Amino acid sequence: MIKSFHPPLRTLMGPGPSDVHPRVLAAMARPTIGHLDPAFIGMMDEIKQLLQYALRTENALTLPVSAPGSAGMEACFVNLVEPGDKVIVCQNGVFGGRMKENVERFGGVALMVEDPWGEAVSVDKVRALLEQHDNIKALAFVHAETSTGVQSNAKALCALARDYGCLSIVDAVTSLAGIELEVDAWGVDALYSGTQKCLSAPPGISPVTFSERALEAVRNRKTRSPSWFLDKNLVMGYWGGGQKRAYHHTAPVNALYGLHESLVMLQEEGIEASWQRHMHHHTALRSGLEAMGLEMAVAADVRLPQLNSVMIPDGVDDAALRGRLLSDYSLEIGAGLGALAGKVWRIGLMGSSCSRRHVMLCLDALENALV
Ligand code: PLP
Repeated sequence: MIKSFHPPLRTLMGPGPSDVHPRVLAAMARPTIGHLDPAFIGMMDEIKQLLQYALRTENALTLPVSAPGSAGMEACFVNLVEPGDKVIVCQNGVFGGRMKENVERFGGVALMVEDPWGEAVSVDKVRALLEQHDNIKALAFVHAETSTGVQSNAKALCALARDYGCLSIVDAVTSLAGIELEVDAWGVDALYSGTQKCLSAPPGISPVTFSERALEAVRNRKTRSPSWFLDKNLVMGYWGGGQKRAYHHTAPVNALYGLHESLVMLQEEGIEASWQRHMHHHTALRSGLEAMGLEMAVAADVRLPQLNSVMIPDGVDDAALRGRLLSDYSLEIGAGLGALAGKVWRIGLMGSSCSRRHVMLCLDALENALV
């Protein structure tokens, strides 16, 4: 007989998921109700309001896609890109590459702006490309590159998109609640995020928001969106305002209880206080790592507080050390990805995993494991 599954108790300090707070886990254990129950619909409205608060937007189309961050990404591209559309895609890590795939799979032409892994997207290179081409439909970039620990200048890039009359598509999977993110003030047009990073809700849901300009582009499509599930025109029948909701898909009821609770906790803390907490504990972690002789992999001015890439010292066996942290401390940190595989560790300080306790545990574990 296969028995019930009981996961080991871990401390999650990798690139996500982060530790889920007991309040969020408790919320998810509440009784399942129907996805069209009036009580559930009231909660959906609160989730929208709380997401608008977290994203600093009044966009009416602000909702959680019932699928992971990659589906939020796909929701942006499948709604906004039509065959033949030219989209500038910035790549400085793994996730820009996934954006390129999306553009091409939906028949668009991806014009690439490439920067080295570990550096920010070059605003000057993007401007130069915008100067060279007419009729660019959108500019797509990753705000917080989880694969490297780098933040790009989202404010400047969105302003450029506006100046050149194209839409901005922003990946905020790791940035939301960890660093400043201002959807309305920066003029972001389409944005997707994830629940498993600085919101510390379980993975599998992707908050998205579309500006009025982006919605206009969706309404004016010449072709029908090739995705039924992610078609924003259809899902708004379920997530739109008012009491008249039509069945679109069966929402992940209990996962949404969890997201609701994590957003309530964010509201209690305050979004700005959350950004400050991430910076505060990052500073402590960095000081401790440097005191141990470890070196940060990313320049200070573009470093993400919530995702710390640390150079693996010469002679240290990457996999063996991470294995020891897991077996001796039940502590998960992340390996390097792609061009940085074997060269860096990625230490996450995201959401509930961003606390004094986490910093102290990680420093203690690393110090002992490195001797
Ligand atoms: N974009 C970024 C920057 C990410 O870090 C991730 C996941 O780590 C994704 C997109 C994809 O999200 P998911 O794994 O939830 O599909």
